[in-house]
Amino acid sequence: MQRRSIRELDHRELSDVIAGMGEKNYRAGQIYEWVHRKNAADFDVMSNISLSLREKLKDEFILDPLSIVKRQDAGDGSTSKFLFSLPDGETIESVWMHYRHGDSICVSSQVGCRMGCKFCASTIDGLSRDLTAGEMLSQVYDIEREMYRGEGRISGIIIMGMGEPFDNYDNVIKFIRLLSDEAGRNLSARHITISTCGIVEGINKLAAEELPLTLALSLHAPNDELRKRIMPIANAYPLDQVIAACKGYFEKTGRRLTFEYSMMRGVNDDKHCAKELAGLCRELMSDGVLVHVNLIPLNEVRERELARSDRETIDRFKIILEKNRINVTIRREMGSEIDAACGQLRRDNR
Ligand code: SF4
Repeated sequence: MQRRSIRELDHRELSDVIAGMGEKNYRAGQIYEWVHRKNAADFDVMSNISLSLREKLKDEFILDPLSIVKRQDAGDGSTSKFLFSLPDGETIESVWMHYRHGDSICVSSQVGCRMGCKFCASTIDGLSRDLTAGEMLSQVYDIEREMYRGEGRISGIIIMGMGEPFDNYDNVIKFIRLLSDEAGRNLSARHITISTCGIVEGINKLAAEELPLTLALSLHAPNDELRKRIMPIANAYPLDQVIAACKGYFEKTGRRLTFEYSMMRGVNDDKHCAKELAGLCRELMSDGVLVHVNLIPLNEVRERELARSDRETIDRFKIILEKNRINVTIRREMGSEIDAACGQLRRDNR
């Protein structure tokens, strides 16, 4: 049987394990600190833990379930992409991004994805399996160790890599609670963004968690007709229901909503789409909802025919939104020397 990663145990679960091993309860706190605060790479560096307890832990758990298979760095140092292998031979991607206000990591939540978005490489082979909380946490811990060697930390997490987070809800919430645990890594939930393609039950459930996360909706089209053409999930959840759930999330948490909008040439980038999107945002804003639109120059996928809008078109689109007093940014493009589209690096290394 495959051993679990000790990283996926919360404090209570670890205390139960330690008690089961006949050890004193305070040992759980010491081990938890090594795992989550000190980002220990090995059980043997846990210098205040006896050799016999370390051996017992090694018999039952692994520390790090991931190994770095490949790393691609953008020439300007702004972005690094990682391909990790998992204990069962599957692979996942994560991306480290440098910003003036602090660095972030884009984390995968599943191996593959079953949502079928037409512009995405992660979904081409469907879903293989969900990631555990420990496998998500390890993307963060391993990249921090690789990038900073103990001399720094990331300041934000975006759950927007491979997979639909609400399709793996319980593990994703456990990951977030572990990451934001004050006794552990202690990253404020305010610095965590969770992105969904629009699963209404997931949005409603998240609103009830009382976690001040930023919710990002992968919108990509301002109406159902167009959305259904590029996102099959739109057949299950009409846009008015998705937007109502997002509004409910704002009302519950007070957190500004982000709408992600990938700019695809000749598909969703004309002025009619811009005006329709502006109307959708303005309706929310008139009810006091804070909205931010993030325009994403499409990361083209080799296996797909969709192309990126040109810069002039994106700028024109942005101006229409700005004229409607909508808060809008254009996402920085990743270096072309790395396989920017989510899921592409994994596909190319099979
Ligand atoms: S965009 Fe996200 S939800 Fe859609 S297929 Fe890709 S990983 Fe899945």
